[in-house]
Amino acid sequence: MSGGLVVALSGGVGGAKLALGLSRVLPVDELLIVANTGDDFEHLGLSICPDIDTLSYALAGLDNPVTGWGRRDETWSFMESLAALGGEDWFRLGDRDLAVHVERTQRLRAGQTLSQVTADFSRRLGIGPRIVPMTDDRLRTRLRIDGGWVDFQDYFVRQQARPAIREIAFEGAVGARPQPDVMAALKGGGLRAVVICPSNPFISIGPILAVPGLRDAIAHCGAPVVAVSPIIGGRAVKGPTAKMMTELGLEATSAAVARRYGDLLDGYIVDTVDADDVAGLDLKITVAPTLMTSLEDKVALARVALAAADALR
Ligand code: GDP
Repeated sequence: MSGGLVVALSGGVGGAKLALGLSRVLPVDELLIVANTGDDFEHLGLSICPDIDTLSYALAGLDNPVTGWGRRDETWSFMESLAALGGEDWFRLGDRDLAVHVERTQRLRAGQTLSQVTADFSRRLGIGPRIVPMTDDRLRTRLRIDGGWVDFQDYFVRQQARPAIREIAFEGAVGARPQPDVMAALKGGGLRAVVICPSNPFISIGPILAVPGLRDAIAHCGAPVVAVSPIIGGRAVKGPTAKMMTELGLEATSAAVARRYGDLLDGYIVDTVDADDVAGLDLKITVAPTLMTSLEDKVALARVALAAADALR
């Protein structure tokens, strides 16, 4: 069975890999990618949206395969000049990347919503499927480490995710309204599946589910909800997911991620090395290779996720 809209929830790097795979197997109007904006921040007077940009660059073929973040063929004149003036240079902004933040900031200040800006950038970058922020309102992930609360990018980039996490909060979540098209997609007919990409469950998917009404709308959308585990063999492929789970008192396993999503999930896709780990879960499990290195891997895993969802319809 196929056809119908697929809503994919995504953070940055891990999520963008599967989102790219999904974009290669679905017609453009059958994929809606919901991006985490909890990582967004204001820096050097600019509005920076790391997960939206990672997704956009990946889907536009502009991503940097060497760094895993930012744009390919990047130059760094701005950063070098800024550093020479004694400016803050802990958050690396390449020249090409900078243009996106400058233009976005201008447009937001002129009154456009983040959804409008993102949609127009997507069109100009030749991206087919829609990428939408989970909310157009301000929601910021904050982390409590020993010593107090810090902004997400302070922890993640400036402190290189070294401090132990004690608590996570989503500032502004209470008043944030879900992006209207996401709600319409979840509540309207014609939904094929919701796919939770292999993103960090706490700081990438967590903020999306913290937007009032979104978790509930997903739970009652009437279509299968499947997730791909971001943990392979007790480790994160990249980033602090496993470390964070341990710090928060959880085991760094695929099973623990599934328990975190709880009754939201109908199906769960885990790596072949984790088949035994998830044996006790009351969920439809699909075991498959989930490490996405090549485009072929991304496409193959996208097909696995869609097949797993379709089998639940
Ligand atoms: P961020 O916002 O840039 O941190 O990106 P995400 O939250 O979307 O992705 C981070 C997560 O992606 C980490 O938990 C990684 O383990 C996971 N990840 C990255 N690459 C892969 C992959 O190829 N396969 C799977 N299964 N997970 C991956």
